[in-house]
Amino acid sequence: MAESRDPSALDRTEVLRIRNDFPLLAHLVNGKTLVYLDSGATSQNPQSVLEAEQEFYEQRNSAVHRGAHTLAAHATVAFEDARATVAQFVGAREEEIVWTANATAGLNLLAYAFSNASIGDVPAESRRFAVGPCDEIVVTEMEHHANLVPWQELCRRTGAALRYIPVTDAGTLDLDEAARVIGPKTRVLAFTHVSNVLGTINPVAHLVGLARAVGALVVLDACQSAPHLPLDVKALDVDFAVFSGHKMLGPTGIGALYGRQELLDALPPVTTGGSMITTVTMERSGYLPAPQRFEAGTQPVSQAIAMAAAARYLMETGMERIHAREGVLAQRMLEGLRELPGIRLLGPAPGVERAALVAFDVDGVHAHDVGQYLDAQGIAVRVGHHCAQPLHRRFGLTATTRASAYLYTTEDEVDAFLQGVAGVRGFFGVK
Ligand code: PLP
Repeated sequence: MAESRDPSALDRTEVLRIRNDFPLLAHLVNGKTLVYLDSGATSQNPQSVLEAEQEFYEQRNSAVHRGAHTLAAHATVAFEDARATVAQFVGAREEEIVWTANATAGLNLLAYAFSNASIGDVPAESRRFAVGPCDEIVVTEMEHHANLVPWQELCRRTGAALRYIPVTDAGTLDLDEAARVIGPKTRVLAFTHVSNVLGTINPVAHLVGLARAVGALVVLDACQSAPHLPLDVKALDVDFAVFSGHKMLGPTGIGALYGRQELLDALPPVTTGGSMITTVTMERSGYLPAPQRFEAGTQPVSQAIAMAAAARYLMETGMERIHAREGVLAQRMLEGLRELPGIRLLGPAPGVERAALVAFDVDGVHAHDVGQYLDAQGIAVRVGHHCAQPLHRRFGLTATTRASAYLYTTEDEVDAFLQGVAGVRGFFGVK
């Protein structure tokens, strides 16, 4: 991955300079300066990303991989350059990056490809992905629904069993249980790199080791890690990984699926039609190798180009430095919240490395009320189950409030948020 060599955290001056690149951060909300602490849900876009999309429509808009005219050739080059940039961002080869609508679509693509490999007349090389009643798929209790429901559905379609690694009270994966749950029947281990609720950074190497020992494929949900820390899919030795453009300063409608080349080339297609075939007769069709095999129909071209602009922005800033900066913000949020009465924090305790997101419960006040109270002060946080109902149930909760920071978040914003939370219980008359 191209990386600034300086591993020190971004400093205050740099963060202020970065903020100038993000037009939306200067907005007022409810007459107050916006304090945007919802980047875990969707991040804001720098000017270079907005311009990349506009420039495409103004100067290159055309169908990729099809037309013989000059504009089509320019569009195709820009589209494939974008793939190369996003591949570089995660340490992959460009043939190993498939464009998807988002991370959810990437996970569904995998789950449906596995079931397509399990039914009917499939080529010999695809049979390695077949799953059936004797097989198990393993996930964790901290998964976002995007990395749970598609596997539940795969199990329903094929008769495979779904098992999961439980979460400890400390908000980490129970690794003793992981060693028991992952066994000879495990065909796929799918887990999140970073929890979108707990902020926990999971021990990828350890889990990959357990999966490799039983010959299982590893699927990494990198939705909350790709935007925030240096991600090298080769070094992590995962088989597949997914991430979304809109969480890493890019636009909505675009994400990526990484797959090891030999796996992607053997995986059956899911969405079929134009642009993914070699020869088509009235009886049957031949398919292109990856990534085109998985990119049927007209692609989100401008979004891919803008996602690449986002990846460039992050690489130029330096993922090590962003990660270091977010570590500082995470501890500031945690320490501040821990001081307040009636706050129950989820996830690793202060001092333990974690992502810059904190979910918490305010005793006596529903998370939606907390969110509305903060919103009235211009502070944007996420409330609800954050698409992780089983995890909330594990902690006896139905909803929490989550603040999530990014490279543009300032200490002043964190302090404004802490001050806001400090006033919640009093406002709602909770003693
Ligand atoms: N996985 C994790 C850990 C997430 O946090 C999210 C989004 O919040 C997703 C998957 C789904 O991402 P998307 O909605 O972009 O598909």
